[in-house]
Amino acid sequence: MRADWCVRRWPVAMVGLTIALASAGCAAGEGGDAPASGVHRTTEVGPGVFAFENASHRTMFVVTDAGVVAFDPISMDDARAMAAEIARVAPGQPLAAVVYSHEHADHASGAPALMEALGAEAPIVAHANAAAPLAARADPAQPPPDLTFGDRLTLHFGGRPIELHYLGPNHSDNSVVALLPEDRIAFAVDFVSHDRMGYQDLASFSFPGQFESLRRLSELPFDVIVLGHGENGDKASVERQIAYYDDLRDAAQEAVSAGLSEDEAAASIRLEQYSDWLNYDQWFELNVRGMYRWVTSQGG
Ligand SMILES: [Zn+2]
Repeated sequence: MRADWCVRRWPVAMVGLTIALASAGCAAGEGGDAPASGVHRTTEVGPGVFAFENASHRTMFVVTDAGVVAFDPISMDDARAMAAEIARVAPGQPLAAVVYSHEHADHASGAPALMEALGAEAPIVAHANAAAPLAARADPAQPPPDLTFGDRLTLHFGGRPIELHYLGPNHSDNSVVALLPEDRIAFAVDFVSHDRMGYQDLASFSFPGQFESLRRLSELPFDVIVLGHGENGDKASVERQIAYYDDLRDAAQEAVSAGLSEDEAAASIRLEQYSDWLNYDQWFELNVRGMYRWVTSQGG
């Protein structure tokens, strides 16, 4: 590893201001570890934009002329495999930054392994609300961010803008959407998916923020969206998610208005038009229950 990778400045344009972060030191990593297993796959989504996935989780990294911006490292093992893929497709490029989509452990773990494998320290960027839970967790695999933001931050590495948008509370209160405006590629995790149910009984979801987040996401200028689970989507995928949560809310509201109990609503609401979506059999009834609880919490 070249020592000078660690002694450099990270220019970050934040709300029109350019700041520089200093390196906190340099890990003596080996770099280029082989993937831990055969479950990983890397796909080029656009020029220098790569989706990286294991059997259940998907993340993204972006190659610029001034280093690689990596999103969720997923886990220490996945991060080592991701580092090997970064070294393969962008040999000699340093790690420029790590960006957490949100603070949940199954996405925000692994940054130390990524840095060690690539032999460089890099700033970790996240939404401001992610800092406290990560600090409280005190897990060495999930270091808190070095740089946080509120509504929007644009990273500039090698003249390639990477916009980070906060669309409000949804699946977490710190979910970050990335947008590469020049490539019309976005990245979003857990609050949106491609033709897939919401997670279980939606207990982690914040309504009405979830509705608002999806609407704001649909207004961003992208053609392809890399998603934290499942296949990549497009603008139509997001529109279908909007329709799904609207239909689910309307059905739950109707059930509450008709005096149905939660069990009766769960047994009778079907929304067959979504029956071919991923996890319908496992999670749809739970989605109904979660939405029913939210509707009743709002007074029906
Ligand atoms: Zn999550």
